[in-house]
Amino acid sequence: MSYDTRYYANVTNLALCQKCPRLAFYAIFMKRKTNFVGIQGTGFYGSVFHSKIAARFFDAASDFHSKLNDKIANSLKHGYESFHELIRKDFFFEFVKSEGKNYPSSQIYALAAATETWLKVLWEALSEMPSLMRFPREIMPIVFQKQNSGNMQSSYDLEIDGVQTELTVVGKYDALIFNPDEKQARIFEFKGYKKSDVTVPLTQSVIYAWLVHEKTGIYPEIEIVHLSESENPANIFSSGEVHEMIKSALPNLFETICRMYTLKEIPPKAYDSRLCEQCKYRNFCEAEIELFIRNHENTFDFERKN
Ligand code: SF4
Repeated sequence: MSYDTRYYANVTNLALCQKCPRLAFYAIFMKRKTNFVGIQGTGFYGSVFHSKIAARFFDAASDFHSKLNDKIANSLKHGYESFHELIRKDFFFEFVKSEGKNYPSSQIYALAAATETWLKVLWEALSEMPSLMRFPREIMPIVFQKQNSGNMQSSYDLEIDGVQTELTVVGKYDALIFNPDEKQARIFEFKGYKKSDVTVPLTQSVIYAWLVHEKTGIYPEIEIVHLSESENPANIFSSGEVHEMIKSALPNLFETICRMYTLKEIPPKAYDSRLCEQCKYRNFCEAEIELFIRNHENTFDFERKN
């Protein structure tokens, strides 16, 4: 197929666009930091937890040559206590030993609690796979397929006012596991902030789920893990629910961001007006964006990377 226009969007900006297209405009065109508008807390230790502890686990579990790969297989064979010990010793304490001095003690305590929460959630998911528990060494390569560090990319075709357009979506999920017994997959997203704002991480995960489906043909489940919640930290969405969310949310979202890239119209307001009450742009976003569009019409390249 030949396209008149090609655009690129990353999952973070798409999720922001779902929350408020104008906040996405601010982030993409005006380079403002708008991700945390309306979110309680910073989410900071969620990203530290993911990159320093969880990602190390998933990388080691998917890498046959990693020294930790053997240890993970052994611990799965010996049950929860052994798995618990491994995560604490080889992942959390290792992190504290090598990098702990760079973080305040409050962060280290929060990360310790997050690790405990995560390992319970992870164990629950893994222990649902009898084949993995019986033959960990043989089944681990299927469950933790080499994850390319979570990077994914796919394209979506649409027509904007008669213009054939291709939107390439790129993103990096936190973790993905495959369940060979159920022929199912599950995406994990780790969040450092409270459950009260579930919409944003969910949108993000729905886009990852679409990317996984484009690549594998499977609609994965989504598990959002709220690391700071000790009671019921996980929200799980079934494959069927995820399929419905993809169908109902993504076509509009992809069109909205492509229309934004044309720099011809002011993007719509936030879908939930309560967000505007917490937003510092509330008295002038329309005027400011209109002025920016007027000053920059025809000066941006049509094909954008962000
Ligand atoms: S005030 Fe509302 S519409 Fe305007 S940028 Fe903020 S959240 Fe979006």
